[in-house]
Amino acid sequence: MIPIANPVIGDEEKAAVSAVLDSGMIASGPKTREFEEAFADYVGARYAVATTSGTTALHTGLLSLGVGSGDEVIVPSFSFIATANAVLFCGATPVFCDVDPDTFTIDVSQIEDLVTDRTKAVMPVHLYGQPADMAPLMDLARRHDLHVIGDACQAHGASYRGRMVGSFGDLECFSFYPTKNMTTGEGGMITTDSEEIADLAASIRNHGRAQTERGYAHDKVGYNYRMTDIAAAIGLQQLERLPGLNEKRKRNATMLNERLGDADGVVTPAVLDDVEHVYHQYTLRCDDRAKVIEHMEQNDVGYGIYYPQPLHAYPHLQRFAHDGLEWSERLAGEVISLPVHPSLSRRDVETLAGVVSEACRRRGR
Ligand SMILES: *Cc1c(COP(=O)(O)O)cnc(C)c1O
Repeated sequence: MIPIANPVIGDEEKAAVSAVLDSGMIASGPKTREFEEAFADYVGARYAVATTSGTTALHTGLLSLGVGSGDEVIVPSFSFIATANAVLFCGATPVFCDVDPDTFTIDVSQIEDLVTDRTKAVMPVHLYGQPADMAPLMDLARRHDLHVIGDACQAHGASYRGRMVGSFGDLECFSFYPTKNMTTGEGGMITTDSEEIADLAASIRNHGRAQTERGYAHDKVGYNYRMTDIAAAIGLQQLERLPGLNEKRKRNATMLNERLGDADGVVTPAVLDDVEHVYHQYTLRCDDRAKVIEHMEQNDVGYGIYYPQPLHAYPHLQRFAHDGLEWSERLAGEVISLPVHPSLSRRDVETLAGVVSEACRRRGR
């Protein structure tokens, strides 16, 4: 079986965790601060605030921008559920925007029509590791005075026009779930250039405690979203590995593009100039997905459907549905993600490409 994901954990991670356990400081402490500094440095942001997950990073990030009840936040209708749920956590309204079928990211040309006087922020998602089209998006946000919060949970190490994902907008949020390009078990990170946002996020993550005070000064509601030093120790090692792991993902994706570029009935991921896609997922569009799935299952090859429904089709989000989200609806029925993770051998990639090509040929018969 070729699995769809396989986290790479080595002796370095084990030794780092062991050292934290031996230190007796296993909650949030010096390792977490070290990880924050290293991560901020890596993405080219001034500050980073570590949290317990990508979801809690998004929640904390939105709260740090002042998003609350009565506010609207524009999000793509084709993403992981946490993108929209984080908006709901704040008592705000997710306003869905369709995606571009070539990049699977928010269709920036459709955002303007969705802006109202209640719109507080827009949340582009760098889906599958492909950066959203940030230049026109930032222009639009500036024109309408909107905050920009990037959901970078799938895009560690991606870049757009020479700039790293994590350095755009007011802030961006990452996840370190085991299937992502790097992991801490569970974990998340907010990156920002704003000291004010970083301080606020750090406080909200820690029961709303004032940063400068020793003791129990809580001047607002907050949460316990603190990363542990155990997780941070893993994260520091994973960050060292990340460029190498991403290179392997890119190499695997390039091989798959070469083998599948001409296959009938599938569209391979768009390769754009001036953009580094880090292939959190390698996602095809298929005319006949059921056929491809059947063939992959017969051949014991893992796959994933990210995501089988557009966000506005989930029961608790249906009340936010509206016309004009056709691509999201269509893509949910067409996409299939193939294994692309760094543990694949060259032979695994050949096998995978062979199985998909074969399914495409059969479909033609
Ligand atoms: C993984 C993911 C999240 C949530 O991250 P968790 O760490 O699982 O909470 C949010 N948005 C997107 C696009 C994701 O892929």
